[in-house]
Amino acid sequence: MTEHKARKRFGQNFLQDTRIISDIVNAVRPQADDIVIEIGPGLAAITEPLTRKLNQLHVCEIDRDIIQFLKKQPFANKLVIHDGDVLQFDFRSIVGKKKIVGNLPYNISTPLLFRLADVADDVIDMHFMLQKEVVERMVAVPKTNDYGRLSVMLQYFFDMELLIEVPPESFDPAPKVDSAVVRMIPVLNRIGKAENFKHFSDLVRDSFHQRRKTIRNNLKNIANDDDLLAVGIEPQQRAEEIAPELYVKLSNYLVQAA
Ligand code: SAM
Repeated sequence: MTEHKARKRFGQNFLQDTRIISDIVNAVRPQADDIVIEIGPGLAAITEPLTRKLNQLHVCEIDRDIIQFLKKQPFANKLVIHDGDVLQFDFRSIVGKKKIVGNLPYNISTPLLFRLADVADDVIDMHFMLQKEVVERMVAVPKTNDYGRLSVMLQYFFDMELLIEVPPESFDPAPKVDSAVVRMIPVLNRIGKAENFKHFSDLVRDSFHQRRKTIRNNLKNIANDDDLLAVGIEPQQRAEEIAPELYVKLSNYLVQAA
C-alpha cells in the first residue's frame, strides 16, 4: 500500500528509517509472550518487526484503509486489531501487565499521555515517538524553561528518559518538527502519594496558570503564605522552581487542613 496517501488529520507520518525502527524494537525488548499494544500501527514500520519477536500483538488504529491493509499482511494472523480511536480505547480490557508502544499521532499526544497515566498501574513500560519538544517537557527538571505541568503530572506516574532523537527526514511525509523516542516506566509513589489526586492535579494546573506570576499569586484562592511555608515553599517562588514532590506535599497539607 505504498499508494496510501498520508492523512494529516490522523497525524500520519510514516517511519522510513530502518536504523531508527530497529533501535525502537531493541529498546522495547519484546519477549515472545509479552502482552504488547501498539498505538497507530500505520503501514507497519514497527508492527512487522515486532510480530517477528512476538506471538501476538494488539494494535489500535483509527484509519479503516490502514486496517484493511494490515489484514492483508503475511503477519496478520499475529495481530489483534482494535478498530477505533485510541482515546476511547479501554486499555484494561486487555488483561495483564502490558507494554505499550507507538509512533504517536502528535495531534493527540497530550490527552493520550494523560489517559495512559490513568492505567500506569497496569503497565510494564511504554515507548513512544513524540514531538521532541514534548519529550523535553516530560523529562524536564525544575528551574528550566521546559519544566511545567506536563513534567510534574507525568513524573508523578513515570520515570522517563529520552532515548533516541529522530530528525524529520526519518519519516514520509517529513513532519515539520524534530521527534524523539521516550521510555516511560511506571513508578509508585516515587514523589509521594497524593491523598486526593484531583486536588493535586488541580493544584498543579493552577500553579502553572501564569508562569510569570509567583506561586503565592497563582494559588491565592487556595493557599496562604503559611501553608506554602509549612511545606517548604517560598511564597515568592515561581511554579517552575518548585520540585514535583513539593506539589504532592502541598496538596496533602491542604487536603488535611480542610
Ligand atoms: N506506526 C506507523 C509508523 O511508525 O510509520 C504510523 C505512525 S503515524 C505517526 C500515527 C498512526 O496513528 C497512523 O497510523 C494513524 O492513522 C494512527 N492514528 C491517528 N489518530 C489515531 C487515533 N485517535 N486512534 C488510533 N490511531 C490513530
